Amino acid sequence: MSGNIEGKVVVITGASSGLGEATARHLCAQGASVVLGARRVDRIQSLADELIRGGGKAVAVGTDVTRYDEVKRLVDTAVQTFGRVDVMINNAGLMPHSPLERLKIEDWNRTIDVNIKGVLYGIAAALPYMKQQKGGHIINVSSVAGHKVRPGSAVYAATKSAVLMLSEGLRQEVKPYDIRTTVISPGAVDTELPDSITEPDVADNIHKFYQAYAIPAESFARTVSFAISQPPEVDVNEILFRPTRQEL
Ligand code: NDP
Repeated sequence: MSGNIEGKVVVITGASSGLGEATARHLCAQGASVVLGARRVDRIQSLADELIRGGGKAVAVGTDVTRYDEVKRLVDTAVQTFGRVDVMINNAGLMPHSPLERLKIEDWNRTIDVNIKGVLYGIAAALPYMKQQKGGHIINVSSVAGHKVRPGSAVYAATKSAVLMLSEGLRQEVKPYDIRTTVISPGAVDTELPDSITEPDVADNIHKFYQAYAIPAESFARTVSFAISQPPEVDVNEILFRPTRQEL
């Protein structure tokens, strides 16, 4: 299903690699105008240039999601450039796994700032426009780790569990404005995510796991496309998917 995407204005955080980049390509190919946010401006700019060369509509805005003013500027740019914001995809995230006893406090702070506050800032930036428009769609990215914690993943899992709760609270609150909400929880998908692990032994194990199990980022892009392409009266609230071979 791919209807109901053409002409939509879609803002994507974390669009410089992995799931965000794949989603930008996928939705642009279906006629969406994509607004790309990430800190690596060179990457999102060259992606936007490539999409435009291919006949698509795209704009890149350097964005650190830990800064509300920058996330607001990202969404404001979408509205200034394309006239509205139909879909906000709060995708930026990191996963610096480590056992709690290693006291990686800097990693904990970064994870909370990006994975929780970044999502909240995305909601804050998009919601006023969507209320005014009386419609829109907010898509938050959680994880299988938001449903299941394992040794070494406590902080990451806590942030992703928070994303589930924020999404459900948001869903109930925005009903009066005809705003749809979706939270997507992927299993292992082949991206740069394991590179955010700062403990070499943990990184080694996760890289091996990803090499054995991870599926292409296009799998995620298709779930986003599925949620957006439903008719306006259909609100797909949760999607959880894994590689077929992944047990956890
Ligand atoms: P990548 O590492 O490939 O992409 C992460 C993206 O987040 C990058 O574009 C990065 O851009 C962006 N990002 C990180 N920090 C910031 C920041 N402070 N401000 C703005 N952007 C930031 O990983 P994925 O594509 O896999 O991750 C996307 C989301 O999917 C994350 O929320 C992750 O937790 C979630 N997820 C991924 C799974 C997987 O197996 N891949 C499984 C479950 C969930 P830049 O560095 O340029 O700022």
